[in-house]
Amino acid sequence: MDLYEHQARQLFEEYGVLVPRAEVTDSSRQARVIARGLGGRVVVKAQVKTGGRGKAGGVKLAADPAAAELTARQMLAMDIKGHPVRSVMVAEPVDIDREFYVSYVLDRAAGRFLAIASAEGGMDIEEVAATRPEAVARIPIDPAQGVTSAKAAEIAEAAGLPAQTVDVLVRLWEVLVREDALLVEVNPLVRTRQGRVMALDGKVTVDGNARFRQARWGADEAGHADPLEAAAAAKGLTYVKLDGEVGVIGNGAGLVMSTLDVVAGCGARPANFLDIGGGASARTMADGLSVILSDPAVKSVLVNVFGGITACDAVADGIVRALDDVRLTRPLVVRLDGNNAARGRAILEERAHPLVQQVTTMDGAARRAAELATTA
Ligand code: GDP
Ligand code: MN
Repeated sequence: MDLYEHQARQLFEEYGVLVPRAEVTDSSRQARVIARGLGGRVVVKAQVKTGGRGKAGGVKLAADPAAAELTARQMLAMDIKGHPVRSVMVAEPVDIDREFYVSYVLDRAAGRFLAIASAEGGMDIEEVAATRPEAVARIPIDPAQGVTSAKAAEIAEAAGLPAQTVDVLVRLWEVLVREDALLVEVNPLVRTRQGRVMALDGKVTVDGNARFRQARWGADEAGHADPLEAAAAAKGLTYVKLDGEVGVIGNGAGLVMSTLDVVAGCGARPANFLDIGGGASARTMADGLSVILSDPAVKSVLVNVFGGITACDAVADGIVRALDDVRLTRPLVVRLDGNNAARGRAILEERAHPLVQQVTTMDGAARRAAELATTA
């Protein structure tokens, strides 16, 4: 569950990290009122759960309250990378001397946390990390030890951050632990011309499994950053959006995960994880297909089902009925195996949909779906 910048800002403030004075609103008229209260000159920032707002025009300086209203009105009509801007934060502007990058992130592979920090923070941090990795320090954190002052000093030293940031690094770690966060990122953490260290932006990801004790963030969009994930969750499907072009549907999390691997092994990238579970009724199949097909990046869809308690003929019936409900616009490759596979295949053959083809092996089906996606 990703928090909005203004929610991260609120946490930082509670834990004693300096942040600019700011207020959030969904009304451009109110933005003018807030700007007046903050002294006139303000920064207006789109509240969307995606990065790169600055480069997308989602962070703008306004010289006076009238300009703040106009800027807010324009921003509230924007869509940043598929995220409609529903509110803006109006903040007191800060005179920046230097911009740093700091984050704590869970390193699942290592079973530890990782501090990532750089003295060259700001909007170009990705480029810095790509071209000069030595400018970005990566310090493992033993979760049982946490970030003590000594550890924070080690992080600051490795990244070339001024000593003043040590206290902030300890407080940000407190945020991570006590708020059940998987990620706390501040970019930029700044030193102002007045010599103060402040968090000018914040990204906090709260562990969804801890939602029961982090209730204050509510069921906001059911915690899904991606609108498709929210739509799928509303239909009771386990769907995770990925970056590729091959849509994947399967029954059982293990089978779907290995399907993702096989698709990747065929030189294509999976567009999603979608487990329709044991039942695989016509309804779930139709819901699953419609979620996958509403992702414009999808070029082909791979249905990989191993019939168990739910036999393949029932799944095939589900697919046939789903084809009546959903307008199929991209090729569908189906692999049915296991219980009653032959009957299931016969049902699909009889339906003879021009965009549906069957391949009997998992590897073969993945290869076909990958080909269709890369040549489409
Ligand atoms: P992001 O692009 O989504 O990461 O949005 P940020 O909140 O990080 O803002 C992008 C950039 O805008 C920052 O790196 C700063 O350089 C600049 N910025 C944000 N707030 C202020 C401010 O109060 N004063 C000044 N001078 N620059 C700011
Ligand atoms: Mn930022």
